[in-house]
Amino acid sequence: MTRTLRRPPTPFLLSAAIPMRHEHQDVRVKFDALKSLLLQIFLKHGTSAFVADILAENCAGCERDGAISHGIFRIPGYLASLDTSWVDGKAESEVSVISPSFIRIDARNGFAQPALAVAAEAINAAVKETGIAVVATRNSHHFSALWPDVEPFARRGLMAITFVNGLANVVPHGGRAPVYGTNPLAFATPVAAADPLVVDQATSVMANGEVRLHALANKKLPAGTGVDAQGKPSNDPHAVLAGGALNTFGGYKGSSIALMVELMAGALTGGQLSVENDFADCVGAQTPKAGQLLIVIDPERGGNNDFAGRVSVLCDRLIDAGQERLPGARRYENRRQAELFGIPMSEQKLLELQTLAGS
Ligand code: NDP
Repeated sequence: MTRTLRRPPTPFLLSAAIPMRHEHQDVRVKFDALKSLLLQIFLKHGTSAFVADILAENCAGCERDGAISHGIFRIPGYLASLDTSWVDGKAESEVSVISPSFIRIDARNGFAQPALAVAAEAINAAVKETGIAVVATRNSHHFSALWPDVEPFARRGLMAITFVNGLANVVPHGGRAPVYGTNPLAFATPVAAADPLVVDQATSVMANGEVRLHALANKKLPAGTGVDAQGKPSNDPHAVLAGGALNTFGGYKGSSIALMVELMAGALTGGQLSVENDFADCVGAQTPKAGQLLIVIDPERGGNNDFAGRVSVLCDRLIDAGQERLPGARRYENRRQAELFGIPMSEQKLLELQTLAGS
């Protein structure tokens, strides 16, 4: 049976609904060139070649897809954490298969993405054997967007959902003091004859990196984004960053989702809670020492022999119902543009990266 596609596979939605990059861009850089610069920078700051390769691919991918708050903007934070030895750039994580579907990773104070890469074989084996892999990572630093952790699984026909906790900079609903991290979660699923559907979001009103971008641009935050150091509502990004905190999204319901992420990522994994990060001995470090839970599911085990087709039907219905675009469409469009024309960047930023890389 042939199915009529009612939207192009990529970007699979209305470009008018896709916010694009906003800062002034002078130059275009190819993905491989950016990755290679970033790789040199990570190596110079003491990571192993394995870690440098994974972080460079991840960070260049964020920049390419327009996940700007988690692209090259994060380099100073990565380097501060490496230079103060807050994070171990050479850590070799330990993967333990606890039961046929439960995998435990001790990232040994290293980055989360290389830890997941080391567990890839165990994850694939668990999904093949049992239909599901539950991957609990502790002692890990996640300083990036979450979509790169889940999208590859969906490209292989699997569903994946992941949760990460972080630094306590989010107040619970009605509270005055920060308890949660911005506690993101991401979900990816295959879609028949289209790119995967990928949802990737913080459970705070705004990601911390976005607040920092607002502060750099001296731009007010939307009402309800956060509080100042006294716990009073504030739309000043500087006040939110200087001892203030963000709000969770969606009132008490969003606050409970942040709670769930905190427990899944920070407690179930044997990791730290967001409130337990203490930078006292590593002033300037920025990466949160936290945990990550990843669940990978083979949707065919659910009994639906056209799962990806069903997702496609739902996506079409959402658009027919008036949803302006699907999650992930903006990133895919940025990726498509970057593949055609290169990744847009200011000349100043490119020079800074070249200097850091020593090239
Ligand atoms: P956004 O609010 O920008 O976007 C959240 C999700 O909603 C994305 O999947 C986005 O798709 C989608 N979306 C946005 N607008 C629409 C729309 N109009 N219709 C349908 N879908 C839409 O993200 P956040 O600010 O919450 O988070 C930004 C990033 O920060 C994420 O990548 C997250 O992983 C990362 N982060 C990482 C943390 C860490 O500790 N490592 C902590 C907190 C956040 P699209 O991407 O296509 O715009």
